[in-house]
Amino acid sequence: MNINSYNPFFEAQKQFDRAAEKLDLDQATRELLRNPLHEHHFLIPVKLDDGSVKVFKGYRIQHNDARGPIEGGLRFHPQETVDAVRALSMWMTWKTAVADLPLGGGKGGVICDPHNLSDTEQERLCRGWVRQVYKIIGPNVDIPAPDIMTNAQHMLWMLDEYEVISGIRAPGAFTGKPVGMGGSLGREEATGYGVIIAVREALKELNIRPSDTIASLQGFGRVAQYAIELYNQMGGKVICVSTWDHTDQKSYAYKKEAGIDLIELRSITDKFGGIMKQKAMDLGYEVLDGGAWLQQEVDILIPAAIENQITINNVDSISSRVKILAEGANGPTTPDASEIIENRNIFLIPDFLASAGGVICSYFEQVQSNMNYYWEKDEVLSKLDIKMTSAYIAVSDFAKDNELCMRDAAYVISVDRVANACHDRGWV
Ligand code: GLU
Repeated sequence: MNINSYNPFFEAQKQFDRAAEKLDLDQATRELLRNPLHEHHFLIPVKLDDGSVKVFKGYRIQHNDARGPIEGGLRFHPQETVDAVRALSMWMTWKTAVADLPLGGGKGGVICDPHNLSDTEQERLCRGWVRQVYKIIGPNVDIPAPDIMTNAQHMLWMLDEYEVISGIRAPGAFTGKPVGMGGSLGREEATGYGVIIAVREALKELNIRPSDTIASLQGFGRVAQYAIELYNQMGGKVICVSTWDHTDQKSYAYKKEAGIDLIELRSITDKFGGIMKQKAMDLGYEVLDGGAWLQQEVDILIPAAIENQITINNVDSISSRVKILAEGANGPTTPDASEIIENRNIFLIPDFLASAGGVICSYFEQVQSNMNYYWEKDEVLSKLDIKMTSAYIAVSDFAKDNELCMRDAAYVISVDRVANACHDRGWV
C-alpha cells in the first residue's frame, strides 16, 4: 500500500463492510451505517492577540445515535482532515456499542496547532466552535469530550459558552471538564487505565504475570501516561516511549533499559505530551528516532498516539518477543498490517475496545453531571474496571466461540448492536 494514499475513512468503511458481511446485513442497514448521519463543516473566525483575525476550519460529525445521544471527542490537530473525523466518528459508534453504553458516536475537530495559540486565543477558538454547533449539541443530543490536544480547560470554556447561549446551566453538555467544575474524578486516568485493564485480562488468558513483562509505548499524552501509571502499579516495566517534538517537527523515542521513570518524565513534558529532548538526555535517556518504539524487544506494544502508525512499511520490524499489541489510539494499525500481526499470533486488542475507558468514564461523568451529584474516585474507577472487564470478556468469549480474531469479534458484536437498534426503531 502506498502510505500517501491512506484514507482513514475508507479503511473504517472496509472494516465495517467486513463485519456487515459476517452479519449478512441487509443493503439499507449497510448504507445507513457505512456513512455518518449528519456532518457539520464550518469556519471559525478567531481574533488573535495582535488584533488580526484567523479563520479556522471546524467539524462535528455525528455518525449514529440509534443507541442513544452522540458521544465523542473533539480534536485540535494541524493535520486534521474531514475523512479522519468521519472515520473517528464511526469508530466512536462501535466504541460505545462494544462497551454496551446507551450512546451513539460522533467526533469533532478543528484544524489548528494549539502550540501556536495563546491561552486567550484558544479560549476564543473554543467559544467560536460552540457558537457554530450549539444548535446540534446538548446533554441529551451530542456530548463532546476531550481528544488529542484538547483538555479539561477547553471543555470548560466550551461548556461556559454553551450555557451563556442557552441561558441554562447544563453541566452534562460536555465531559472531561475540570474536577470541581462538573468533571468526574477518574476521567483523566480513564482511557489509559482502561487500556491496561484490557492488557491485564489478555495477560490472564495468556497465563503471563504482568510483573514478568516489559512494554514500549507510542505517545506520552493523557492515554500513555495513565496507562504507564497503572501498568507500573501492576509490576510492569516500560522501557521506551516516543513523542512528537513540536520544535523539531518530528518524533523521538526515549529509552531507558532499566525502565522509564514516569514522574521524572512527566516533569519535563509539556501539556500536549511533548518531552523536552535536552532535559531527557540530561536525565540519561537514550534519544532515538521516533519509530524505534515499535522495534523494541518487549512483550507488550501500546500505540497511544494517532491513527495510521503501524503499516505494511514498518510492521515487520516488530520483535519476535512481542505477545500483545494493545491499541490505545484510534486506528493506529492499518488493516493490512493488522492481518500480518494476527498471522504472527501476536494477541491484538483492537482500538475501540482497548481505548473504551475514556468514553465509559465520559458516560459516568454525563450521568453525574445530569444528576449534579458526584461519586468518589474509588466508585468511578471500580465501575470503570467492571465495564472494561465485561466488554473485554464479551469480545474474547465471542472470538473463541466463533473462531474469530479479537478485532473481528469486537466489530461483529458492535455492528450487530447498532444495526439492531436501527431495526428496533424502525429506521431500516
Ligand atoms: N476522545 C476519546 C476517545 O476517542 C474519548 C471520547 C469521549 O470521552 O467521549 O475515545
